[in-house]
Amino acid sequence: MIIPKANKLSTNELKELEAIASDFECSILEIQGHNRCVYAILGDEGREVMFKRIAGLSFISKVEMIESPYKLMDRRSGLADHRVQVGKTEVGKEEPFFIAGPCTIDPNNPNLYLESAHAIKEAGAHALRGGVWKPRTNPYSYQGDNQSLEIILQAREKTGLPIDIEVMDSEQLKLAFDAKVDVLQIGTRNALNYSLLKEVGKLSAGSDTTVLLKRGRHVGSPNEFIAAAEYIVAEGNPNVMLCPRGTTPHLEGYRNHPDESITPLLKNRTWAPVVVDPSHSVGHADFVLACSLAAIAYGADGLCIESHIDPSKGIGDDPKQAIRPEKLGELIQSCQAVWKSRYLP
Ligand code: PEP
Ligand code: MN
Repeated sequence: MIIPKANKLSTNELKELEAIASDFECSILEIQGHNRCVYAILGDEGREVMFKRIAGLSFISKVEMIESPYKLMDRRSGLADHRVQVGKTEVGKEEPFFIAGPCTIDPNNPNLYLESAHAIKEAGAHALRGGVWKPRTNPYSYQGDNQSLEIILQAREKTGLPIDIEVMDSEQLKLAFDAKVDVLQIGTRNALNYSLLKEVGKLSAGSDTTVLLKRGRHVGSPNEFIAAAEYIVAEGNPNVMLCPRGTTPHLEGYRNHPDESITPLLKNRTWAPVVVDPSHSVGHADFVLACSLAAIAYGADGLCIESHIDPSKGIGDDPKQAIRPEKLGELIQSCQAVWKSRYLP
């Protein structure tokens, strides 16, 4: 849809516009309103270059693309009925889907992770998380250890729960994929690393592997977030879950700016499930419950929560933001109640 600066385009302006459209095998339709005219592009209007050329005309105020920039992620695409499954559970079908676990696995204390994993299963989680390799702001902080992959694989074997780990580069991706890690997490720092997103999609194409794509701290619009997921889907893996995890903070006191309210905007545009991470959003164990309830009220299909049997012994974010498995159990029940109330008439 094209909106001119004046009420109507002059004959010469219209000719100029038509000439651009015809270069792309499109035509222009003038729509006359009471006071002013707008113009529609007839044909395949999703051509970015045509769009930019029209937007650059001095007499045009605004050009809006009606066709979505993400063909496969669009809720009207052929994938609209695609359902994402992790292990044996379809995400967000009958109840919220819960991924939980420590931020970071301590390779020197595997039992701490294994005991947390058992308690988290008891609490009712559907999948286990645990950081093997960590994106750390401080280059001298603990960066991860390949040994932790063995620990989380052991936890999967012992609990029967599917596992989620973050991968940041090709080498980690290959190790995790070869180990049949159920959920590959792409963290906030790599949310717009298009080369990595393509690689993830290509390697996992046609497999049961699911990708949990976090919303980058600096990712702006819902469309930018969905378009990032399109990179994975376009390479052949439609098993993606979108994970808002807080953006640049505006409220002093929260680690990030909780962005669970983006959920209905995403769900209006895409079929992909939304799994909110309240732990990184608020960054404080005390606020995780409130953010979780809000996320479910906003329509989230699931949550990814940091939980640890003894947060003070954690070597990642756990001391400040992990909740104990007993609290996780209560949180899961409260979220299930909110979930049910969502469907009340
Ligand atoms: C994490 O899940 O521990 C993590 C580092 O997440 P994010 O990418 O959201 O910061
Ligand atoms: Mn963390």
